[in-house]
Amino acid sequence: MAVSLEITFLGTSSPIHTGHRFGPCQVVSGGGVNLLIDIGWGATLRLYQAGIPPQRIDAVFFTHLHSDHTTDMADFLVMRWVGGATAPLPVYGPAGTARMVAGFREALAADTKFRLDHHGEKLSPVATECDVKEVSAGEEPAVIATVGEIAVKAFHVDHRPVMPAFGYRLERNGRSVVISGDTVACAGLLNGSQGADLLVCDSMNKRMMADVEGRLRGIGNELQASLLADAHTYHASVEDGAAIARDAGVKHLVLSHVMPAIVPEQEAEFTAGLDAIYDGKISVAHDLERFPLE
Ligand SMILES: [Zn+2]
Ligand SMILES: [Zn+2]
Repeated sequence: MAVSLEITFLGTSSPIHTGHRFGPCQVVSGGGVNLLIDIGWGATLRLYQAGIPPQRIDAVFFTHLHSDHTTDMADFLVMRWVGGATAPLPVYGPAGTARMVAGFREALAADTKFRLDHHGEKLSPVATECDVKEVSAGEEPAVIATVGEIAVKAFHVDHRPVMPAFGYRLERNGRSVVISGDTVACAGLLNGSQGADLLVCDSMNKRMMADVEGRLRGIGNELQASLLADAHTYHASVEDGAAIARDAGVKHLVLSHVMPAIVPEQEAEFTAGLDAIYDGKISVAHDLERFPLE
């Protein structure tokens, strides 16, 4: 059977940098189209590692404007351009996206001029130009874009004080991949995940996070411990993710944006007890891992 949709994880971590998990970012592909959902730190490097160079990305969708989901945009824009892109990049995101994109482009303005002066007509004058559409979303998923044969639906999620914040549901050939964005359990996520083949859910193991915070306090890093403790209020717990997957009838739950940034030996502890909540398939995402849906 042909693949209807495929998700490739580029980064599965959160704002704190680690060597084994990069910033939140994934590609959803189908019918020759590649859509990039968020551009977390290290995403451009991961695109090359995944064999999907930036010029093969057809559109970008931002879930929200937290730095861990956005800051590789500058590298991405340059590498897409010098990789041969000749049309403005379609970009979708919440209010504030246009200002953010303009800022990244402005930061690159000197570089853009230097390269055009040096390489002349070999490079497209389009350079880092983007076609930005700021969209809105409610608690029911609604189509905000169709790229090739992939329909992209947005729904609002609860990541307060970050507003607006979206999740996305991508559909092709009757198959569906849902990306929660950063959120606690909420009506938008439940509605957006109904019957999904695969749900990528924000996931925090609060017990393991408390251990990390305790260790930070033990070495006198009270600030970082306290910042991590604040993060508990706006990320879904692993138990919440499992309950949403159960209630929405999701077929496969993939935990990503994993907090803390566990290594493989910790996965059993990370997911302990979830099978008592949800009896579908549960995976912990890894950078550069792919899940095809036939
Ligand atoms: Zn995040
Ligand atoms: Zn966030």
